[in-house]
Amino acid sequence: MFLTFNDALCEILVENEFQDGLSKGDFQLRDSFRKQADEIYTKVTLRKRETSFFTLYRRFFSKLGYTERVKGILEEFSGGDGFPEECYFARTFREDEEGAQLSEDGVRLGFQIRAETLRDPEQCAYLLRHELTHILDILDPAFDYDTSRPLSEVSPSEESLFRDRYRTLWDLSIDGRLERKGFLPQDLKDRRASEFRSLFLNLGVEAAEQVFAALWNDRRPSSGELRQMVTGAVSLCAVLNIAAEIFGEGEFQPTFGPGSSCPLCQFPTHEWAEPTEELSRAVNEEYPAWEPTQGICSQCANRYLFTAAFSTNSPGITRKIIE
Ligand SMILES: [Zn+2]
Ligand SMILES: [Zn+2]
Repeated sequence: MFLTFNDALCEILVENEFQDGLSKGDFQLRDSFRKQADEIYTKVTLRKRETSFFTLYRRFFSKLGYTERVKGILEEFSGGDGFPEECYFARTFREDEEGAQLSEDGVRLGFQIRAETLRDPEQCAYLLRHELTHILDILDPAFDYDTSRPLSEVSPSEESLFRDRYRTLWDLSIDGRLERKGFLPQDLKDRRASEFRSLFLNLGVEAAEQVFAALWNDRRPSSGELRQMVTGAVSLCAVLNIAAEIFGEGEFQPTFGPGSSCPLCQFPTHEWAEPTEELSRAVNEEYPAWEPTQGICSQCANRYLFTAAFSTNSPGITRKIIE
């Protein structure tokens, strides 16, 4: 396995170690670095100086055990058929950007990681094992990974919901496997459980527990099964063979925000109406499956309220006016 770390990552981790040492009154590491840095100033030409500094940082980075920390975990996963031979680590500042990705041709593996994660042996080990399990699934022909088609054929907002669900359901199966190997940090199971609940709000408590247990303990779904499961609580239960216990008639989107589409007129909107009881009743006359949690844009709301007002005050003529 050929490992590389980007310069920014090496530099910040080495600098952090200096700080740690200094705060404990230990100057040894920093002084030894300074001595070698001074040599670069006197002996290396200006043009080559930057490269020499980064080589120095890289040497200290390795000496401090970071390369070994990462290598040890990569070795648990590598060796199998098609596992990439090269791995590159780059620095990111955002937790939601941390993760691994295979290059298009599958020969290289790229990691984005925060300096804080790499500094913490336990957190680093979890991130790497979690991400590498994703990679092993992707490399497994039985998983049948397919990114050529979108998950939703309806709208970008549905696509984004389905993606969140895809990621979370897959994560349940991955973290369940890590737990069985004794590699799961505390509290993570609860965090995954609430993540999952928030993405399938219309699933009954008991069914939700069964789904969670099935993915956590028994079963690694294939990519095709995940694609089916993300479409809603009904298919989720069907794929896992669990008696569906679903609230509300249809599947609903748990969130509606600025710019997402109104479920009634399908137009993107930034103005959502407050679904009062009166309004809900009016909408349900035309769309019995609609629920207030799905949201309604203010234009639709006005139209329904207008219709409702007419039908109460002068029964019989509403239809004529609206049509
Ligand atoms: Zn994941
Ligand atoms: Zn609307």
